[in-house]
Amino acid sequence: MPSPHARTAAPALPGHGRLRPLTLDEVHLTDGLWHHLQQVNGEATLDHLRSWTERLGWVQAFTDASAAGTPADRRGREFTDSEIYKYAEAVAWEAARTGSPALLEHLEKLAATVGSAQAEDGYLHTAFGRPGQPERWSDLAFGHELYCAGHLLQAAVAHARSGAGEAWLQIARRVADQVCDRFGPDGVQAVCGHPEIETALVELHRTTGEPRYLQQAALFVERRGRGTLPPHEFGAAYFLDDEPVREAEVLRGHAVRALYLAAGAVDVAVETEDTELLQSVLTQWQNTLARRTYVTGGMGSRHQDEAFSDDWVLPADRAYAETCAGVAGVMLAWRLLLATGDARHADVVERLLYNVVATSPGDDGRSFFYANTLHQRTPTELPDPEGESLAFGGGGRQPWFEVSCCLPNVARLLASLDGYLATADDDGVQLHQYASCDVATELPAGRVGLQVRTRYPDEGSVVVTVTEAPGWDWTLSLRVPSWSRGRARLTVDGVEQAVGHDTAVVHGSLPAGTTVVLELDTAPRWTFPDTRIDAVRGCVTAQRGPDVLCLDATTGTDLDLDRVAVDVAAGLAPADGGGAQVTVQVRPDAGPRDGDGLPYGEAPAHLVGSEQRTVDLVPYRRWGRTGSSTMRVWLPTA
Ligand SMILES: [Zn+2]
Repeated sequence: MPSPHARTAAPALPGHGRLRPLTLDEVHLTDGLWHHLQQVNGEATLDHLRSWTERLGWVQAFTDASAAGTPADRRGREFTDSEIYKYAEAVAWEAARTGSPALLEHLEKLAATVGSAQAEDGYLHTAFGRPGQPERWSDLAFGHELYCAGHLLQAAVAHARSGAGEAWLQIARRVADQVCDRFGPDGVQAVCGHPEIETALVELHRTTGEPRYLQQAALFVERRGRGTLPPHEFGAAYFLDDEPVREAEVLRGHAVRALYLAAGAVDVAVETEDTELLQSVLTQWQNTLARRTYVTGGMGSRHQDEAFSDDWVLPADRAYAETCAGVAGVMLAWRLLLATGDARHADVVERLLYNVVATSPGDDGRSFFYANTLHQRTPTELPDPEGESLAFGGGGRQPWFEVSCCLPNVARLLASLDGYLATADDDGVQLHQYASCDVATELPAGRVGLQVRTRYPDEGSVVVTVTEAPGWDWTLSLRVPSWSRGRARLTVDGVEQAVGHDTAVVHGSLPAGTTVVLELDTAPRWTFPDTRIDAVRGCVTAQRGPDVLCLDATTGTDLDLDRVAVDVAAGLAPADGGGAQVTVQVRPDAGPRDGDGLPYGEAPAHLVGSEQRTVDLVPYRRWGRTGSSTMRVWLPTA
């Protein structure tokens, strides 16, 4: 019986870099928001994914393919295999986290089903290559063959790192070998329309030690941006094929594709010690954060092509901000944090976790936001538990989508979230995200154990108790989130200590029993947009701790969000549930009208007769949970 708690159970395991990630057997969430979301994920979402994919025939597709049965009956889009793989990855992390024998057994059976569809030469995809189906590799732009292969590799890596055996790894290696044979240095000079294989090949290299997989990932990264894909109605930028990766200045095109590619490029750069490539991605990321990112961390402001728009084009009501882009953003920022040690990347992880990832799943873990708007004008529809949404942008949380990429993506992140909280280096341990958890790891100096207890983000106090210490000097580092810089306090056994700019550092023998308390300022605060973001000029929003706040008007209340304005001078008071209380003016008259009845006039709208009301802003992640509602993050100022 393989150990369910192998030491390598981490979602990314770079061979080089400033920081070493702590694995799922070194960090355990014990309580609080993320522990709760992880429980719901394990108890409800995984079952939800299994039952929907079985009902839709996406698992049966593998069995049919193995029997060379009737491909014409295959149901779903050409990339449904990838949803099974992402689901398998989520189950593998959940098995690593909990040690559940039932989950491991389920994964073994699923591996047998998936493996039965694998061809003699290693090729594996249920939608291509059989009589009545398109030829293998005949549609690299849209066929998602390499994309699906990538997710299979990631599922196998998760399964192997969980110490659960080699059933998935054996399938994945044959797939990867076939990809390398076909697309290697002397093979077909092409890339996939949807990046994903790059990061997956590097992780498979990290798990197996096979250098060929890393070389192939590097080839795919270098080949991108050289026009090997056919013209696209949205332009070559849609698949990031407009410009070589190392020459680009900013992320563009389809947001999820761009972020997966960037994550893969970081992986390649780290393993090949290519500082130029790493610097290029860092520059693109900084420019993207500075000009193309919503206050929630959401990315992609165009529904049409699920894409980044030009700089400063960040309309609140047309925010696409796909949940998958949030997950991919976490993957990228985490890789950059490991590579550089720069705390700003952990700030980005936090923003994305609280405001995109935690926003998507409904309370029951069986409905999800696909797009994450910042302004819902029409009341959301309540989810029909049996319903499948054909649209994948806007509206309320839905149980399923024709394209259901976001659901297993959230599931695999939540199941492996313990692996994104803390890191170590030769000197000590770094805590990046705050949640009640137990940490235990081995440093060169010896073993360190920590007990972290906090009611974060409802309260800003983080109490860290050393439970095990090496007996030599070591260092404990705690990130000071960007929103609390200059206002954080640190005590060690009750004695106040200086706090650095973005990190609170404690160094010494720190024996067992040492108590370190970091106090962060979670008072609500106004947040103003860059004046170049035309869509929200003259508006303001509020944040509290890591949470972006919003005004959520459940249908049936008499608050018309189109008429609300806030007086910033009136201030913000903390409210229960992690929100803030604010005084708003409700305008009697939304605007002028000209003689033609158009919503324009020669005089500005006036505020005479405005009614003052006190309302609660709530964390954005909580919106739409009490029924059908309208919502806005950005509020016009009075
Ligand atoms: Zn998605």
